[in-house]
Amino acid sequence: MSDIKIIMKKEDYRNILDHCKKGLPNEACGLLAGTVDGNVKTVTKVYLLTNTDNSNEHFSMDPKEQFAALKDARSNGYGLIGNFHSHPESPSRPSEEDKRLAFDPTFEYLILSLQDIDNPVLKAFKVDKEKNVTIHEIEYI
Ligand SMILES: [Zn+2]
Repeated sequence: MSDIKIIMKKEDYRNILDHCKKGLPNEACGLLAGTVDGNVKTVTKVYLLTNTDNSNEHFSMDPKEQFAALKDARSNGYGLIGNFHSHPESPSRPSEEDKRLAFDPTFEYLILSLQDIDNPVLKAFKVDKEKNVTIHEIEYI
């Protein structure tokens, strides 16, 4: 745990969970808009995107939807602070590929594990340039 904290509305969590369950058996993905104030990152909006890979082991976000999300976030005065994807059959931790693709150490990488469908696990990760992984706390409001 580091001292960075992410604040997310319960409603946004439910939307992420619904989106990821609907995406099964494949991975689902999306983007998070928000604000950063010191060590506190607040999610202001969640964008549910299409996984164009249609795979249960990896994902690619639809580029048009990504662009639309970025445009929408900016027009509301927010930046993109992170993304999320699901792990249908594995725990909530970055895979080697997830680490390889994590190019921004300031970005929050959220992974929702649906390995136990009755007990979904959402965790947020920072991946630094050396590919070290740190877990960030998520507080639900
Ligand atoms: Zn992954």
